[in-house]
Amino acid sequence: MESYLQTSIEYLKGVGPQKGKLLKEELKIFTFEDMLLYFPYRYMDVNTVQSIQSIHSGMDWVYLKGRVVDLREEGGGFKKRLIVTLSDGTGNIDLVWFQGGEWIKNKIQANAFYSVFGKLTFFNQKASINHPEFNLWSGEKEKSQQEMIPLYSTTEKLRKKGLDNRNLGKLTQQILNKLPPNLITDFFTEEIKKEYALPPRLWALYKIHFPQNAEEAFYAQKRFKFEELLVTQFKINKLKLSSQTLIGFRFENVRDYFNRFYHEILPFELTNAQKRVLREIRQDVNTGRQMNRLVQGDVGSGKTMVALLAMLLALDNGFQASLMAPTEILARQHYESIHSLVEPLGIKVVLLTGSVKGKLRKEVMLSIEDGSAQITIGTHALIEDNVTFKQLGLAVIDEQHRFGVSQRAQFWKKNAIPPHVLVMTATPIPRTLAMTLYGDLEVSMIDELPPGRIPIQTFHRTENFRPQVMQFIKQEISKGRQVYIVYPLIEESDHLQFESLLAGLEQVKMWFPEERYNIAMVHGKQAADQKQRNMDRFVKGEAHILVSTTVIEVGVNVPNASIMVIESAERFGLAQLHQLRGRVGRGAEKSYCILLTASNISKESAQRMSIMVQSTDGFKIAEEDLKLRGPGDIYGTKQSGALDFRLVDIVEDVELVEMTKKLVNQIIEEDPKMLSEKYKGIKNMLKKFEEQNTKEGIKWHLIS
Ligand code: ADP
Ligand code: MG
Repeated sequence: MESYLQTSIEYLKGVGPQKGKLLKEELKIFTFEDMLLYFPYRYMDVNTVQSIQSIHSGMDWVYLKGRVVDLREEGGGFKKRLIVTLSDGTGNIDLVWFQGGEWIKNKIQANAFYSVFGKLTFFNQKASINHPEFNLWSGEKEKSQQEMIPLYSTTEKLRKKGLDNRNLGKLTQQILNKLPPNLITDFFTEEIKKEYALPPRLWALYKIHFPQNAEEAFYAQKRFKFEELLVTQFKINKLKLSSQTLIGFRFENVRDYFNRFYHEILPFELTNAQKRVLREIRQDVNTGRQMNRLVQGDVGSGKTMVALLAMLLALDNGFQASLMAPTEILARQHYESIHSLVEPLGIKVVLLTGSVKGKLRKEVMLSIEDGSAQITIGTHALIEDNVTFKQLGLAVIDEQHRFGVSQRAQFWKKNAIPPHVLVMTATPIPRTLAMTLYGDLEVSMIDELPPGRIPIQTFHRTENFRPQVMQFIKQEISKGRQVYIVYPLIEESDHLQFESLLAGLEQVKMWFPEERYNIAMVHGKQAADQKQRNMDRFVKGEAHILVSTTVIEVGVNVPNASIMVIESAERFGLAQLHQLRGRVGRGAEKSYCILLTASNISKESAQRMSIMVQSTDGFKIAEEDLKLRGPGDIYGTKQSGALDFRLVDIVEDVELVEMTKKLVNQIIEEDPKMLSEKYKGIKNMLKKFEEQNTKEGIKWHLIS
């Protein structure tokens, strides 16, 4: 029976070899099963008839009712087409047939009422519909018709061969009509379906294509979204499932390093949020299991200090600790501040990055290997195979969003018993996204800034206000402040990026002549040591202005810098703008962020600028970002691969994310091997998904 679903699509009536080939090439539909699993992306509710007057260029599909007032043929030979004008009292619209016009012409009755459904085409602002679906409207009887029309995405090539929206639906209908009974098994027990209000699978399969109303469409989609999310949760929890059984070091002692640092060196009182997170970490590292914890905290919330205290805890228990940062600049900065903080305690801190070379590198590697390097700070270089730790107890990863899951896992391999892992991120990730991306991590939040910070004031200014902006900067510099000017990274071309930066530098020099102003520049193309020298000039206060690309985005700490100017700010995402803004407001002075844009930016860009002006709360900004751009675009999440959903919308489907997370946790607790009757079906489902888990995302299966 299985073979019915595996039948090659070309054997379906009305398909044949030619169309079959197209379906395979264009939509990856190879079999009957693939066709059934090609779900509509949306539905058109025919109860909401639109008026012709209300049509505008932002619309795509429309459902209209009206009278045929004109019928004519235009063009000749090849270009011959039939044009029917429909009027609904509010306006007229042309319906166009390039093929099959003869047949339509004979069928159509002048002055009769029709219901029309189709996709709008705009030419010179004027709307028309090519090859619409077209039915005689017999008044009341219309109700018995299908109320929800499924919309399938199709391509121009397919449409030309007649495989438009309507016909794709018809093919699916055909397959469903002949579907042998009992072929589709449900993966969920009645109990689970009841608990999560899920419909049976077979019902959902029919209704996702042909729902009678919006409610049916909702439940059908819910069923498949639930499956999709459940599989994702399991995928993510794989790490957790294994780390649950992983033994971890016990940090039982709190000794001199921690205590002396806390009481004698720590230059300020920890915020309550910092204390809470530190407590959470201390609990984790004392359970005998490996810790995997994510610390989220807005820029400047003091994550580094929490990490350092955790590292000292590792040292107190005789272990080494390491801190990995995404850039050389950041690693060096961490090294310098941590080194000077713990030096009085006689702790040996080493730095390992790509530019630590030769004899020094050998020494550093050796000290890591013999254990004399108690704290190692570095970049990716740390996780390379040739780096061996004597006894790594804690690995801290700063700015986690820059690294992938696999890199985190690489730390685990550094010992027979994996080190505890603490990852920190300042790219505030909305809760839903964190749950999907980091489902295998426990999450801590530092949701409080150290006291005494003066809020950063943000302005949005267009190009015509540049003179005033530059004047303002001069004023601040004369008060002793320093300024960042950041140019966007133009991804398509390194060359262009460089050009725009150089042009920018020239412009800055025009406003700030070199006789009076000191300007430093850093960008991705500089050698590490040159970058470092230029950066140092700014850090030491020698340079008034730092012109840069986004390399300074993460972590850089220059408390005296009080102005952040972002050029072409419309090119940046919100999360990135927020990160950049976080470079200022770190000292005692009032700080400013100025977003410079062209004057004719899009509505959406203007909206983003206004969010930045209004809010300094990173989490709120991230939520807005997610709403505006969708998860695929969120900075740094693209490569994670955790977000290739077919049906799920990570913003809309928060509740489903939580439900599936709950179910997975329940399974992990009750029956992780899924041997019981209750979970057997789910195990089966996972196996099926696993088998065909392609790069394009999650693929469904209909047979268990
Ligand atoms: P981030 O979370 O962005 O990594 P940092 O750890 O760099 O933040 O901290 C930002 C600044 O705030 C640093 O200069 C740090 O020394 C300081 N800081 C951290 N915690 C506190 C605190 N509890 N009170 C005052 N200043 C703090
Ligand atoms: Mg930091």
